[in-house]
Amino acid sequence: MQVDFLIVGQGLAGSLLAKGLRARGKTVRVVDDGWKSSASQVAAGLMTPLTGRRFTLTKDYPQLFATARQALTVAEVFRPLDVYRMFVDEEQRSKGLKRAECGSYQPFIRKITQHQGEFDASLTDAFGGAMMQGAWVDLPKLLADARAELKAAGCMIEDIFEPEEMRDHPAGIAWKGVRAGGIIFCDGYKSALRGPFKDLAWQPAKGEALNITSDAPQGAFILNREGWALPLGGGRWRTGTNWQWDQLDETPTEAQKTKLIARFQGYFAHPVGVDVTAHVAGVRPCTADNHPFLGTHPTRPRVHILNGLGPRGTVWAPTAVIEMVAYLVDGRPIRPECDVRRKLSRTVG
Ligand SMILES: Cc1cc2nc3c(=O)[nH]c(=O)nc-3n(C[C@H](O)[C@H](O)[C@H](O)COP(=O)(O)OP(=O)(O)OC[C@H]3O[C@@H](n4cnc5c(N)ncnc54)[C@H](O)[C@@H]3O)c2cc1C
Repeated sequence: MQVDFLIVGQGLAGSLLAKGLRARGKTVRVVDDGWKSSASQVAAGLMTPLTGRRFTLTKDYPQLFATARQALTVAEVFRPLDVYRMFVDEEQRSKGLKRAECGSYQPFIRKITQHQGEFDASLTDAFGGAMMQGAWVDLPKLLADARAELKAAGCMIEDIFEPEEMRDHPAGIAWKGVRAGGIIFCDGYKSALRGPFKDLAWQPAKGEALNITSDAPQGAFILNREGWALPLGGGRWRTGTNWQWDQLDETPTEAQKTKLIARFQGYFAHPVGVDVTAHVAGVRPCTADNHPFLGTHPTRPRVHILNGLGPRGTVWAPTAVIEMVAYLVDGRPIRPECDVRRKLSRTVG
């Protein structure tokens, strides 16, 4: 079987890339192991403009968000929903007030509150907070729709890809019965552990999340304070998460479950009950400089990568896919800050 591209991994990256390449008339096969190590299945898919303790607007966020909103609306998985960031202390509140005066931040901040209960009496927002324009992406639907489409088109291979089973040949690569003009690694943090891109400057980070039901009051906004709680209606919530840089696996832990429940309950002024219906863990494919890896291996011209989407895959993926398709099909350059060959702390082997 001869195709233009073999894509390894059908997470957010592989799903959108396969769609983008097929839309340009390219033939693809996508190999996935059944979402065994899928960050995309674990993520809540939140899009939050201002993040971190310093409450800053991520570089390029307005353009990335606009592109993502358009692409993910077409895919029917974009869910606009405001985010209420509760300030943790006085310092953060004064930062929030300053940000609200700044022109580039204004489109994303709807309202700043300064006192507990000003916005919603059921919350423990002792230092007030910022209501921001936000969204979440229905990633399980995106993945399921993409898989169904790829299966119907005969493009899906459900199997484990082992990099050592791949052979280079002058016109591309060969793997099992597939011959492809090129291969593209979209296998999430597994690329940091083995294969041709393992020596890049990766910083994978594990995180856990819970699906719960609760009698906590549900507003029409995401709660955010050192974590988040996404209301899904009918008393259902998704809540997370944490950051762990060792023990990179998909095993949820009792310790984190206890912490996530306590943090969720801490958002509310009155005691709330919690029933855990699912507990999941995944590994974010983060990079040392917080930019994705796009492009071609320095010594293997048929071996490509679209990976390293980090903690904000939903914001980055649509732009990364547009640029990768333009690179592969039209020969357009990759933006330097995302080029896999940019200056790295370790060399690619
Ligand atoms: C706890 C947590 C919370 C997050 N929250 C958010 C959030 O709120 N907002 C946001 O935008 N992002 C969030 N992220 C980040 C987001 O999940 C990632 O950026 C994005 O999903 C990465 O997509 P990907 O396709 O690159 O990788 P993945 O989703 O990991 O997909 C890789 C695919 O490749 C498959 N695979 C791997 N190895 C092989 C192999 N050898 N053979 C065959 N198949 C293979 C895997 O099973 C998987 O299906 C979060 C991540 C985690 C873990």
